[in-house]
Amino acid sequence: VNYSKEVDTGDLILRLSAIARGLEDEGQLNLAKIFRAAAVGEIYRESRNRPRLGAGLVEAMRETAAEMSGRESASNSLTQAMSYAVEALERREMPLLPDIPNPLVCYQCGEVMLQDPPLAECPTCNARRYSFQKILPIYFFQQPLKRSQVESLLDANLQEVESIVAGIDEQTADQGSWPLREILYHLASAQNLMYGRARRMINEDNPTLVSVQPSDSEVSEPFALEQTLGEYRATRKEVSEWFHSLSDADLNRGGLHPEWGPFTVLSQVTYMVQHEQLHLAELEARREGR
Ligand SMILES: [Zn+2]
Repeated sequence: VNYSKEVDTGDLILRLSAIARGLEDEGQLNLAKIFRAAAVGEIYRESRNRPRLGAGLVEAMRETAAEMSGRESASNSLTQAMSYAVEALERREMPLLPDIPNPLVCYQCGEVMLQDPPLAECPTCNARRYSFQKILPIYFFQQPLKRSQVESLLDANLQEVESIVAGIDEQTADQGSWPLREILYHLASAQNLMYGRARRMINEDNPTLVSVQPSDSEVSEPFALEQTLGEYRATRKEVSEWFHSLSDADLNRGGLHPEWGPFTVLSQVTYMVQHEQLHLAELEARREGR
């Protein structure tokens, strides 16, 4: 690990962010976004090597939560939520939205707020509620895709998975810390889960969509690749036909996810195809032995 390089990157991220704000002050929002994107890119690049559960994640959380609670700038609601997060993960619980509201960050002063309902003003600088930035559970929750985009991704993702998995032998499928066989099973079971939820939103009025521990729906025994791929393909054809048959009103039918909040049929199927896109490059890397 090159320590001096890490310090420089942290400093670079701060300089990029400060430039973005300076440009925003000038009303140059289209220039600001370039510097903000560069800062976000550096953050993602430098955090690719991350702690995992059973390999330092809980320890890193506990240490960082303690460090944050020692900072005068950290709000009580943030440090309490961080301690709670350590305990929840240690107990392997999946906290629901009412347990941890989506955090709001004060754009003026950086105060992090987890109150629900949200505070009307920032307790530190009095900035008003609707100027706060909301941090969602995952970055691609922002907005559902268009129907036509979802329809093409339903087909395109299946084709990609088919071509990546084609010709892989069962031994290669077990290599790596998260092997190809398990990624494929993860995609197949995620599809089953999300298709099930989307159908419930069609068949019931505003159902509550129970949350599931990822481990409950993931592989526990070594399924043959051809079997998992076959199930994934068959369900995908069914999902695709079903999705094409829905009216625009159907796409807007809703449900409540206790972990993430309100969903519609369109946002649920959007989530499914975006989640697949998140894993395709990983699947490809395993095929190539990376
Ligand atoms: Zn503030």
